[in-house]
Amino acid sequence: CGIVGYVGKDNAKNVVIDGLKRLEYRGYDSAGIALIVNGKLQVFKKSGKIRNLERELNKLNVFSNIGIGHTRWATHGDPTDINAHPHTDCTKTVAVVHNGIIENHSSLKERLIKEGHRFTSETDTEVIAHLIEEKLKKHDHFFEAFTQAVKELKGSYAIVAITEKEPDKLFVARKDSPLVLGIGDEETFVASDIPAFLSYTNKVVFLENGEVGVITPTYFKIFDLQGKERKKEITTINWSL
Ligand code: GLU
Repeated sequence: CGIVGYVGKDNAKNVVIDGLKRLEYRGYDSAGIALIVNGKLQVFKKSGKIRNLERELNKLNVFSNIGIGHTRWATHGDPTDINAHPHTDCTKTVAVVHNGIIENHSSLKERLIKEGHRFTSETDTEVIAHLIEEKLKKHDHFFEAFTQAVKELKGSYAIVAITEKEPDKLFVARKDSPLVLGIGDEETFVASDIPAFLSYTNKVVFLENGEVGVITPTYFKIFDLQGKERKKEITTINWSL
């Protein structure tokens, strides 16, 4: 039930795991993380405590400037390693984390299976990754494909996606599930709640329903689903952890 994303100069693995731990109070049954290491997407996920995932990650010496992490509170599919987020498309170049429920997931899944997609999990979330893959066949820019995919979703969502094609960007969307950006010095965070990144920055941008965006270490751009850019205000938070 928590999301953390990071893009910047630091080791994303540590920032994301640290952020997930700070969101533990929200409750969860499994945890996972996706990183882009030397241009390749790598996904690690484990049911149970974040500690289990961390133990797995510590065995490997990975460095990445970008990462997304998730603590899951299962709504569709058992709390297994496979059902844990992040979820990927068939090409395994796109990874997605999601909080909420995709209400039209069965009809989307049925259509995507007919279009040739193979699913690996029982979650409602996995349709998002395949839908983006499908849209990428018609749209060159990842953000355009991402937005077109989000437009087809019904239900509640906070989504963060990363792609090998544009390995310095986080793609975000929100409807009825919280998502906040943290603006640092040449590093940017996204999370379901401020404590996830408050030890790094107290400058935040709250996303609203119906907003999608692109986030890089040095800038962020937020749009509505019709493609119109939204002016966003940076708020300084005056409380500490
Ligand atoms: N509905 C998704 C799932 O069951 C996301 C649950 C969550 O918000 O953690 O995998």
